[in-house]
Amino acid sequence: MPRLTIDTSIVLTSATIAGLGMTLAGTWLLDGDAGLRTTLFGAALAYGAGGVPAGWRALKALWTEHVLDIDLLMIVAAIAAAAVGAVIEGAVLLMLFSLSTTLEERAMGQARRAIEALMALRPETAFRKSADGSVEEVAAARLVAGDIVMVRPGARVPADATIVAGHGSLDESTITGESMPVSKEPGGKVFEATVNLDGVLEVRITHSLEQSTVARMIALVTEAQAARAPSERFSDWFGQRYTIAVLIGSVVALMGFYWFLQDWQSALYRAATLLVAASPCAIVISVPAAILSALSAAARGGVLFKGGAALETLAAVDVFAFDKTGTLTSGRADVTGIVALDGDETAFLLALASVEANSEHHIAAALRREAERRGLVLHPVQDVQAIPSAGIVGRDAEGPVWAGNTRMAEMMAASTDEVRFRALQESAETVVYLGRGAQILGAVSVADQLRDTSAGALAALRAGGVKSIAMMTGDRRGVALRVGKALALQPDEIHAEMLPEDKLRLVGELAESSKIAFVGDGVNDAAALARADVGIAMGAAGSEVALQAADVALLSEDMERLAAAHLLSKRTASIIRQNLVFAIGAMLVLVTGATLFELPLPLAVLGHEGGTVLVVLNGLRLLKDPIYKTRRAGL
Ligand code: ADP
Ligand code: MG
Repeated sequence: MPRLTIDTSIVLTSATIAGLGMTLAGTWLLDGDAGLRTTLFGAALAYGAGGVPAGWRALKALWTEHVLDIDLLMIVAAIAAAAVGAVIEGAVLLMLFSLSTTLEERAMGQARRAIEALMALRPETAFRKSADGSVEEVAAARLVAGDIVMVRPGARVPADATIVAGHGSLDESTITGESMPVSKEPGGKVFEATVNLDGVLEVRITHSLEQSTVARMIALVTEAQAARAPSERFSDWFGQRYTIAVLIGSVVALMGFYWFLQDWQSALYRAATLLVAASPCAIVISVPAAILSALSAAARGGVLFKGGAALETLAAVDVFAFDKTGTLTSGRADVTGIVALDGDETAFLLALASVEANSEHHIAAALRREAERRGLVLHPVQDVQAIPSAGIVGRDAEGPVWAGNTRMAEMMAASTDEVRFRALQESAETVVYLGRGAQILGAVSVADQLRDTSAGALAALRAGGVKSIAMMTGDRRGVALRVGKALALQPDEIHAEMLPEDKLRLVGELAESSKIAFVGDGVNDAAALARADVGIAMGAAGSEVALQAADVALLSEDMERLAAAHLLSKRTASIIRQNLVFAIGAMLVLVTGATLFELPLPLAVLGHEGGTVLVVLNGLRLLKDPIYKTRRAGL
């Protein structure tokens, strides 16, 4: 219940400020007994509201988790101040401490809550169509896969679904961060909480609410906020040891000051000042403030990091490897040529599309669409097995059947050397053969389109300092070269006809000398995604396996977001560096002042808390990162 603690902390801070006010008024404005009583009451209020809750929390942490809370340093300093009669200074300390803690909490809460806005967009109810054609309004949470739901113009899609009837443009900005509407037709996927702008859609629910894309996004970001980055873990580790060192150091300093000053009161006062000056609050919060803000900004831009670690590693990545189909290309392929060896194109396509109906591959979807366009009714195929980067096998009414590329044909001992295939084979397009055992029945060529943002994204990555880019595809060399050329890739950056294990091996080799990110969408990319320093999966359209294996999900179709995310990670790294340099510098100045120049306690506190707040605000600048404005800005 973060809201509750924030509100409580505002009340406590206000009480601390009031307490300090009374202490000051009692000392300077009022005389005699009334003055003394006001001072005492004010100091008690300031200490009680500003110190007791934080002290209690720190003691509890020490007792139950055996961790030394940095806040404890402040409390010890305030007690020391009171002990030497510097009550006002102790109250100033607690007031500034309490104020800056509240500000920090608010700021960090802002970063954390950026994602919650998403949940607010989920529709409460849906219009479910029953078998007899009647429509009833039901709670969106009760929808199950298979339900048919009507989505009227202007309404939000209640759960992830596939369109069964109707056309419409959808505003998917909640998922992808992109406000350009996407037009969809029957067979198209629609996502929970996106807005249907026009046309009445009839959709079949594919995922219940707990498994929806939005639910997954929320889960991912929540996990990300819990999974700590290495530098965060370092600052935790450091914070612990440092706090102990400061406590011991202050006791030693107390002895030293006493040695020189021969006066316990001033020695204790100066030791307390040193304690505050040396506290590492700013250093410890430097990293999480920046990382949390960057994660939220990225999520709003449709780039989901599974943890701060992925964000930090991405900043160091200098080689990007891309899968082709479905990643650099849209994956929405079209059939461009058909050669049926027995001359019966329809029967051939029917057999081919029927096997492919069981595959998740982009090529399969193209064939299914082609069959649908021709009004073919697909027949069932049994014992289906997908063979990654090769094709698919199964058994229909006429016996065993397979579909796939030359690799597949070789496995079946079938020859693809056939004059009538020449034209297809010489085109720079993907060729799919259909066969029964060693006998080939025909071939089709399939072409998919480059995403219009791919070339720009690669150029932006290079401009952002990426050393080399590689394309790794299971497709034919001819296709790979055509696509690579359109993307201005060097010939040695193009790797074709790769099996999943080839991608894995190449990624491993590249990882030896550089930090590598792999971007992919398919089942065939999962191993490479897991092996790369940073695995990035195409979110909304990618396969579930790829999403599981990856560290980052790219929900936007806009590849330029990837380049933007790379820049964001670099900016985060630089803000963390700035923060650390500033925090350490400020601490050194304060410590020098406290040891050598009789720095007054309130000034040490002001410098220390001020520095902490500045560091948090600097991290918060990342929340405004342009990543989620790419594209939107021009619209
Ligand atoms: P990429 O690495 O570019 O994403 P894949 O490794 O998924 O490509 O596929 C490589 C090749 O394997 C495809 O170009 C195609 O020739 C063949 N292939 C894979 N799955 C199928 C399928 N279901 N039907 C036909 N061919 C397939
Ligand atoms: Mg792919």
